[in-house]
Amino acid sequence: MSQDATTRTAVVTGASSGIGAATVRRLRAEGFEVLAVARRADRLAALAEETGCSTHVADLTAQADVDALREVVRERFGGDLTALVNNAGGAFGTDTVEGGKVEDWQRMFDVNVLATLRVTQALLPALRAGTGGDVLVMSSTAARIAYEGGGGYTAAKHAESVMAETLRLELAGDPVRVLEVAPGMVRTEEFSLNRTGGDAARADAVYAGVREPLVAEDVADCVAWMLTRPRHVNVDLLVVRPLAQAAQHKVVREQV
Ligand code: NDP
Repeated sequence: MSQDATTRTAVVTGASSGIGAATVRRLRAEGFEVLAVARRADRLAALAEETGCSTHVADLTAQADVDALREVVRERFGGDLTALVNNAGGAFGTDTVEGGKVEDWQRMFDVNVLATLRVTQALLPALRAGTGGDVLVMSSTAARIAYEGGGGYTAAKHAESVMAETLRLELAGDPVRVLEVAPGMVRTEEFSLNRTGGDAARADAVYAGVREPLVAEDVADCVAWMLTRPRHVNVDLLVVRPLAQAAQHKVVREQV
């Protein structure tokens, strides 16, 4: 299918939950055609039913799945893509560097860094087509600072952030904006549960007493704002935190 000049198209990765699902909802409300990507087919199907997005099931740590995604984008959007939201990612473990598991670090680099690399490489030709497009990277405030027990995640998010910065330099002169959102504490259903290996009490403790952590819709709002600026406006980096979190180690907690 080829697109007319006014159709805006987006691929959102990590769309089966949290920030990715909220971004799909928001971009659909803004009139984008959206291809939602993740591994869990049932969740994507429910999102499609709700929002009218299209879906593609893929493990983005597998090159063959990313190659298949490129073909789907070619078929569905006529090879002309307005936005790629590289949101799939996550944290696994809270170990010290000394005690960290190599497998956890590997998973974090795979999904945060290398998946973003694979998908960006695969879709850049489609983003260059037509009037140009946007590569958005969902990093984190963990990309800007170190904290104890966060070594693998902060290292991966720093790498993801530097990839965005490098890409922006390399694409200078091309009609492609490179945008980065670095959220602080966002209360999503699965992020902290995945980090703690499914320990609900430890996951809840992350947000204990914090008045109004960000929610997925807050971050989706930032994404939508960045993507809908006039094309000559490149929001390089947007750092967004809840009011209660002045810095990574400076979180105001009320008695609970
Ligand atoms: P979630 O755990 O809810 O979402 C992660 C998404 O990534 C899921 O949809 C998951 O879907 C997808 N995903 C994971 N692995 C793969 C894979 N191999 N292939 C394809 N998709 C995959 O987390 P959030 O919504 O909270 O976080 C989204 C992004 O925002 C992440 O990059 C995270 O690092 C970042 N972030 C989150 C913050 C927070 O406090 N929550 C703060 C700052 C940044 P599925 O399992 O179906 O594949």
